[in-house]
Amino acid sequence: MVIMTEIMVGLEIHVQLKTNSKLFCSCPTNYRDVEPNTNICPICTGQPGAKPLGLNKHALEQLIKIGIALKCEFNNTSVIQRKHYFYPDLPTGYQRTSKPIGINGKLGNVRIREIHIEEDPGRYELRLGTVDYNRANVPLIEIVTEPDMKSPADARVFLEELEAILNYLDAGRDEPGSMRVDANISIDGGTRVEVKNINSFKGVYDALMYEVIRQQNVIRRGGKVQMETRHFDESTGSTISMRKKETEEDYRYLPDPDVPPIQISGDMIQELKEKMPELPRAKAERFETHYKIKPDDAWILVMEMEIAKLFEEMIYNIESQGEFIEAQKVASWIRGPLKKQLNYRKMTFAESQLNTSWLTELFVMFNKGELSDRGMEQVLIALFEKKKGPKEIANELQLIKTNDLSEIERYVDETLESQQKAIEDYLSGNEKTLNFIVGQVIKATRGRVDSKVVKELILKKIKR
Ligand SMILES: [Zn+2]
Repeated sequence: MVIMTEIMVGLEIHVQLKTNSKLFCSCPTNYRDVEPNTNICPICTGQPGAKPLGLNKHALEQLIKIGIALKCEFNNTSVIQRKHYFYPDLPTGYQRTSKPIGINGKLGNVRIREIHIEEDPGRYELRLGTVDYNRANVPLIEIVTEPDMKSPADARVFLEELEAILNYLDAGRDEPGSMRVDANISIDGGTRVEVKNINSFKGVYDALMYEVIRQQNVIRRGGKVQMETRHFDESTGSTISMRKKETEEDYRYLPDPDVPPIQISGDMIQELKEKMPELPRAKAERFETHYKIKPDDAWILVMEMEIAKLFEEMIYNIESQGEFIEAQKVASWIRGPLKKQLNYRKMTFAESQLNTSWLTELFVMFNKGELSDRGMEQVLIALFEKKKGPKEIANELQLIKTNDLSEIERYVDETLESQQKAIEDYLSGNEKTLNFIVGQVIKATRGRVDSKVVKELILKKIKR
């Protein structure tokens, strides 16, 4: 019997916005690159009498752009509230957090409940007892979804698209830990469990998988899933019960009298709408219809903005050289051999700094049959050194395929001479030995010859 479990997953995603200055003061936000407690001032360290500046306008614009991408409606006004709790990373004793700004959005099949803005707390090192306020007051948004994801894989797909959108908008800080996720999950209409502070997408998937199995086991043993908050331990891939969940009253939300209400005008939204770039979903649809490439290839290309750009530039380069190559071949090559090398190096395309013209040149050579699969791969690997172009590399490594029959014949003769036993074997009826001999010739030429040509030559030379 197959047991079907109905899974409901909702996410709360904290994204650090890409801004130069903090949310309520003019301190810089590059908290990772500097000594502890150097990007600080009386405002972001909550000193007596220090009053916040007005809300960082750029941060608000970034939030609205993200809201537009997520098809949100916008409230005309919003207030900043003080959310009270006591912890060493919070010098004021409260976190400033707005009421919802964007509401009722959607990404794919997942409804977005709301987006609001807040300040990041500082960083407290529990074991050392030290605190660093460089991060305090860095602008953060929280995106809250409805529980519309039906599996851990759904959550991963959603987050991948969201990350791509943030890159396209240049709105999220592009570094580890800049996106933190709280996931809530319930199975078979049972109690909701929240898993806090997951720092990577893989972590979200692992934490949810762990919870599905854990909750199924509780139910199978006749128990009841407790409503609780759990902590995800990345090293063991498990979740651990943390504490009883605080209720909203515990935080004593109060409007902050020091910050005027946020105004979001229709003009402001319209102006930002006009500046929106083409987003991943729209780009994928255009790639499919315009270039006639497969939907799943289009999706993979657009998930990395720089890869999508590479694809279109390669096609443009090829066409402007008066060549014609099907776009699908370019897409397959990027998704296949190129992505393989990037993944192996754990690099994004942007990080690789590979030269687009050189990649186009290599691809054209390969497509014309001047390089074997293996030869192409070797040139590609050498391109990561960024010193020479593909033609030069291919010549130096002697990888260009040869059509020179007398040269191929020479390799065949040499091989046949050293493979007398294999020839006898073949002549006495073992057909498979022929492929072995062909392989030996190709090996001797380092993949520079066509196996069909070699086979024909061998057959001409050995008579049965
Ligand atoms: Zn400051």
